[in-house]
Amino acid sequence: VKCIGILTSGGDAPGMNAAIRAVTRSAIYNGLQVKGIYRGYRGLVTGEIKEFKSQNVSNIIQLGGTILKTARCQEFTTPEGRQIAYDNMKKEGIDALVIIGGDGSLTGARVFAQEFDVPCIGLPGTIDNDLYGTDTTIGYDTALNTILDAVDKIRDTATSHERLFFVEVMGRDAGFLALNGAIASGAEAAIIPEFSTEVDQLEEFIKNGFRKSKNSSIVIVAESELTGGAMHFAERVKNEYPQYDVRVTILGHLQRGGSPTAHDRILASRLGAAAIDAIMEGQRNVMIGIEHDEVVYVPFTKAIKNDKPIKRELVNVLRELSI
Ligand code: ADP
Repeated sequence: VKCIGILTSGGDAPGMNAAIRAVTRSAIYNGLQVKGIYRGYRGLVTGEIKEFKSQNVSNIIQLGGTILKTARCQEFTTPEGRQIAYDNMKKEGIDALVIIGGDGSLTGARVFAQEFDVPCIGLPGTIDNDLYGTDTTIGYDTALNTILDAVDKIRDTATSHERLFFVEVMGRDAGFLALNGAIASGAEAAIIPEFSTEVDQLEEFIKNGFRKSKNSSIVIVAESELTGGAMHFAERVKNEYPQYDVRVTILGHLQRGGSPTAHDRILASRLGAAAIDAIMEGQRNVMIGIEHDEVVYVPFTKAIKNDKPIKRELVNVLRELSI
């Protein structure tokens, strides 16, 4: 391998820039050429590719978003589109790819690597933390801290008015942000997709968690078709428990922004450097993760579409501490 291409794809996450910087600098340090591919897979298809030197990634470790931009690319999901992507790659002299993205982006990498003889290395970049084989994903810690900040502020007004608030957070069918966000903000409960078929989480909360002696309550709800979202629960409470004064806040895209936390910057830097180590070692078609503070290589097939389990212990901690 002489020249690597790097791209960010799918939903953006704080820390992607730190990862771009790490991959670029580590590649150059190891004598490789680097090319930045813009707008995810779309840039591969349209040929929007530019050589990256060390100074192209100066002063970006602290920035949210991604300087390479990101996009969703329909064309890349077709064999014809991927053939064009491959031809453009060859034209540019790129002989390995580093893909920073979530479940969908790594699925794309897996499909591409099956069709063409191109080493692909994935880095977990998503605020949702829903990739298997890494303790956390790039962006998750920053999003969690953003949620805390917001919930702390909501708590002030919730307490003053003695209201019950449903706060909706992102997560795309994973409850990590909701559950850990609830623990860290001292919320009364979390409603997460993992348990949506198992128990009626609202009933449980009303039964166990919500006490009259508390002058406010905050329930964090993971945005998901499985939970139905915060609005759904607010409507239910209005109908079934009209005595409660209910409000809803949907945090939305502000969870995607902001300067990455120290945790995410260090994670992105380590993963980026490890991606180049992996390429130098001849690894291919793996996601790089960090588990128990050690770098691990996770085959794409294992990292994606694999339900990363939620620890029951966390659910118990939340329940015990919200009495
Ligand atoms: P994320 O990486 O955040 O999960 P998406 O699910 O939107 O984001 O996926 C990002 C892009 O990855 C898609 O727009 C598409 O170009 C590519 N992709 C996703 N799934 C596949 C697939 N099965 N085959 C080929 N490309 C895919």
